Amino acid sequence: MPKYVYDFTEGNKDLKDLLGGKGANLAEMTNLGLPVPPGFTITTEACRHFLTEGRLPDGLEEEVSRHLSALEAKMGRRLGQADDPLLVSVRSGARFSMPGMMETVLNIGLNDESVHGLAKQSSGNERFAWDSYRRLIQMFGKTVQGIDGELFDDALEALKAGRDDLDLEAADFQRLVETYKGIVRDQTGEDFPADPHRQMRMAVEAVFRSWNAPRAILYRRQERIPADLGTAVNVCSMVFGNCGMDSGTGVAFTRDPGTGHQGVYGDYLQNAQGEDVVAGIRNTLSLQELERIDKPVYDELMQIMATLENHYRDLCDIEFTVERGKLWMLQTRVGKRTAGAAFRIAVQLAEQGMISMDEAVTRVTGDQLAQLMFPRFAGDADAKKIAKGMNASPGAAVGKAVFSSERAVELADRGENVILVRRETNPDDLAGMIAAQGVLTSRGGKTSHAAVVARGMGKTCVCGAEELEVSIQGRSFTAPGGVVVNEGDVISIDGSTGAVYLGEVPVVDSQVVEYFEGSGDHEDELVRAVDRVMRHADGMRRLEVRANADNAEDAARARRFGAQGIGLCRTEHMFLGDRRQLVEELILAETDAERERALEALRPLQQGDFVELFREMKGLPVTIRLLDPPLHEFLPDCTDLSVKVALAGDRAEEKDLKLLAAVKRLHEQNPMLGLRGVRLGLVIPGLFAMQVRAIAEAAKAVGGTRAEIMIPLVAAVQELENVRDEARAILAETGVEALVGTMIEVPRAALTAGQIAEAAEFFSFGTNDLTQMTWGFSRDDVEAAFFSRYLELGVFGVSPFESLDRDGVGRLVRLAAEEGRRTRPGIKLGICGEHGGDPDSIHFCHETGLDYVSCSPFRIPVARLEAGRAALVCADSDTR
Ligand code: ADP
Ligand code: MG
Ligand code: MG
Repeated sequence: MPKYVYDFTEGNKDLKDLLGGKGANLAEMTNLGLPVPPGFTITTEACRHFLTEGRLPDGLEEEVSRHLSALEAKMGRRLGQADDPLLVSVRSGARFSMPGMMETVLNIGLNDESVHGLAKQSSGNERFAWDSYRRLIQMFGKTVQGIDGELFDDALEALKAGRDDLDLEAADFQRLVETYKGIVRDQTGEDFPADPHRQMRMAVEAVFRSWNAPRAILYRRQERIPADLGTAVNVCSMVFGNCGMDSGTGVAFTRDPGTGHQGVYGDYLQNAQGEDVVAGIRNTLSLQELERIDKPVYDELMQIMATLENHYRDLCDIEFTVERGKLWMLQTRVGKRTAGAAFRIAVQLAEQGMISMDEAVTRVTGDQLAQLMFPRFAGDADAKKIAKGMNASPGAAVGKAVFSSERAVELADRGENVILVRRETNPDDLAGMIAAQGVLTSRGGKTSHAAVVARGMGKTCVCGAEELEVSIQGRSFTAPGGVVVNEGDVISIDGSTGAVYLGEVPVVDSQVVEYFEGSGDHEDELVRAVDRVMRHADGMRRLEVRANADNAEDAARARRFGAQGIGLCRTEHMFLGDRRQLVEELILAETDAERERALEALRPLQQGDFVELFREMKGLPVTIRLLDPPLHEFLPDCTDLSVKVALAGDRAEEKDLKLLAAVKRLHEQNPMLGLRGVRLGLVIPGLFAMQVRAIAEAAKAVGGTRAEIMIPLVAAVQELENVRDEARAILAETGVEALVGTMIEVPRAALTAGQIAEAAEFFSFGTNDLTQMTWGFSRDDVEAAFFSRYLELGVFGVSPFESLDRDGVGRLVRLAAEEGRRTRPGIKLGICGEHGGDPDSIHFCHETGLDYVSCSPFRIPVARLEAGRAALVCADSDTR
């Protein structure tokens, strides 16, 4: 039988999986010789057993009894003993800290008899004894028996009748105990359990059960904490901060978790217990004030904090209690901190020689860096929050609400800031999204069109704000409480929290972006820290980082941000705008001559785009993907066109009739699985040849370029061979050197990568399509339809479009990489698409031995950092 119970003297900080964070660190502090009230921890394994089997594991109760007896012997008191009671707290504590998510019950062991024993223990302090007793019933009733906490709070408020809690006397609390017992009887039909052992057992089970409380589940999902870890339970002998003004309770940090500045920081409350400090029942005192009140306790606290920081080599937060002038440590952990503080602290500790620069890099994350790169609101104290959606793309945006892409462009051209508000966005909204400061949608998840595009552009986005009733026709939306926002009204959206505000909230720019842009203030402490971390990460990483960029402007930013090439230049954007006309002619062409004319008209335009791109990239590799999307995307909408033709009746233009016929002919049931990618190249004569020629001529014009021609959607080596031969002929004719390779984005391509590598000089994994086709998901349909249900059910912990699915899609990638290399040793392997900028996916790419990741320009610093962290092996998840 496994050991289910560990005395605080038996554990240590590395046993977090088994003892939870709180238990492991209580043990660590005990072993360091710090003053921790004795106790023991029941393991997470016991919790998992309880949750899956519905009962405590065999033998657990005896094991707990043995440890309790030992604790009683050490303390010289028995649990709940009438004349001299031992009291304990029963505290939750999981592997990852989930602040306030689960339950804790203090003062277990009190009943109508032992309350007198407690008073005697504290030299007749009746007030303290009855206060402790009423707290027990209140916490026990609420957390163990599931009684609405407000019933207790209301009774307390009624009793206080406006008095401060310090003015309450023993008799008041004694009356409150009777009231509370009445509440318990009313609500449960039973008396408050007087038996101390029963109290303890019920509390332990309640803590186990609290692992699956709705708010705990929600928190875990948000923080990506696995659902099956379970919580440990700590049984800890009570010390009392509520037995007079020489007692109290507090929380403290060894450094400022908000800014990372050195120097302790904390709050203290006299004559109080447990949660009172954070609950804000009275104004707290600062640690400086504690120094004035009780110098010896303050000095000891400072010494302990220094010990802890040296020992954990990181910022620690602590909970402590003072009982009549004696200091007790009740909790410590490596503390959470803001993104800016994380960078500053990591570099400070490295400069102090406490940790190495390698370790400093593993202690910050790409997500934290991303947060620092977005503008943020200076503070929302006065702002009126009207709704909350999903925090799809971080940042802070302020502007006039507009409800169409055209209107967004129109106002932006006049120099106004706008927020584009839509139910959901589609590719036609792109111009509006670019023109807007931010995007707000009432539908769609974190991987909806709006979210993906906004993240790619580094644009603030709040999506899926379902409380909003958006009326596109009415050019307005209604928020809960009947707040109506019309076109032109100013709103502010916070892409880091999902909050939507009425009116303007002040915004500040990111100094970190200015630094990457090359204009940052290097004296600034945060900028300096980011710079140190980035330089070290760059020195350590093996993965190259490239950018997804289609135009010179993006390419220029990508280079400033440190891109080592372009990993994906999509050519379809070059077919939009004024050129639609030419594309329509191409599609409508009835003869070879007509088609060639259209292609010849397009070629110089394409060539011009490539020239700009090559110039900007100055000899770095540029991977250009030949046309990928289905043709109908370049034609007008079928319904719109039908209406136009119908309205025109007999006078309909011949061109419109032809277009409508083409739209209908090209209509596909499943366009993502239809005529697109390499299939287009094979079906439309001259299309790919035109693109290759444009690339070759541009390369020749610029000189010294490293073009890589990439064929999309290949599933069979024969497809690739056809296009490659055509491309090679043109390259030979123009005398330009370029690699010809393929995307691996169809499962069959991954499965036959060994053959495909015969014809491909490089592979770039297109993991968006590969995910879509491996799961059989149509991304645009399934996310809104059922992903939230899938997340709830735990089918996946995070959308496979956000973070690469290692088990399925990842397996195909590994297989293709291996077989591709077997055929063609040294074949260049990369990844492009959303996953290229996702931290966990980047780690996967490192582990799989790819050569580069490619991501949107704005994500490049994040990818550089994560590639460095991956190389430094960052298995330690304590930085989460
Ligand atoms: P959380 O995980 O929500 O912080 P804790 O288990 O740490 O919950 O307990 C809540 C509060 O009760 C904390 O302020 C803690 O300091 C206090 N507390 C817990 N155990 C004891 C104890 N044995 N003696 C005195 N105070 C305690
Ligand atoms: Mg705590
Ligand atoms: Mg694709």
